[in-house]
Amino acid sequence: MSDPMQWPVCYQDLKTSKQHYVHYIWQETWDQHILNKLHNIHPSTSHWAALPVRRHDVRLTRLRIGHTRFTHMHLLLGENAPECPSCKVPYSVYHILIDCPVFNHHRITVFHTSVLTLSDLVGETPHQNLFAFLLKIGFLHMI
Ligand SMILES: [Zn+2]
Repeated sequence: MSDPMQWPVCYQDLKTSKQHYVHYIWQETWDQHILNKLHNIHPSTSHWAALPVRRHDVRLTRLRIGHTRFTHMHLLLGENAPECPSCKVPYSVYHILIDCPVFNHHRITVFHTSVLTLSDLVGETPHQNLFAFLLKIGFLHMI
């Protein structure tokens, strides 16, 4: 009987095995980054499912990474960060979607609750009313 270590290996099997191993290592590394803001809304290293409408997909991605034209344009213009006039804090995606009490009425109207997380709105499966909320608060076209 021949030594199994001497058996020929199919290239495709080797390639698949290597890809699984690399993905396993990537996931293991990502699992340790629990303080990363993206880890909370996307704990898996698997691909996001793309939205069918490209424009919405781009907006959703910008919301997920927390970078929008409205919240980050000041960097390009060399200006101060826009500030919420009610809360006196710099606007962020988190502040607009989750935190700011100015939008609580709209959250309750659209989502039927004012207690939400970023995962609820822009996580693996984005909330079905997310874009209705963004439109209602006037943020949709500023993303
Ligand atoms: Zn605010």
